[in-house]
Amino acid sequence: MSTKTSMTTWFTVYSHFVEPLRGPMFRTKSPYPDILPPDIRVLLGRPKRYWQKDVVERVEEDEKKAAEKSKKMQAEGVSKALRKGIFIHCKICGAVAHNARTCPWKPTDGGS
Ligand SMILES: [Zn+2]
Repeated sequence: MSTKTSMTTWFTVYSHFVEPLRGPMFRTKSPYPDILPPDIRVLLGRPKRYWQKDVVERVEEDEKKAAEKSKKMQAEGVSKALRKGIFIHCKICGAVAHNARTCPWKPTDGGS
C-alpha cells in the first residue's frame, strides 16, 4: 500500500466526524417500535428446585415415595421378595445363632 493511497483513505475516513450529543433528549425519535430484549428461554437440564434441596429434605421425600410405592404395590396385590425372615445357618452344626467361621464346634487343624 502506497503512502499517498493511505493518506487519501485517512482523509476520506476522518473528513466527517460525529458530533457528541448532550443527552438522550437531543436524540431524534425513531418511528419504529423500541427494540426489546429476547424472552428468557428455560434451557435443558436439571430443574433448579431439585438440585437446591438439602439432604434431609431429599431423604424425607425418598422415604415418602418408597412408602407410597409399597402401598400401591400392596393395593395391586404385587409382592416383593424380601430378605426379611431369612436366617443364616451354620454350615458345620446347622445352628442359627452363628455362622461356620464362629462355630464353637469348628474342628481345629492344630494352629493357623
Ligand atoms: Zn455351628
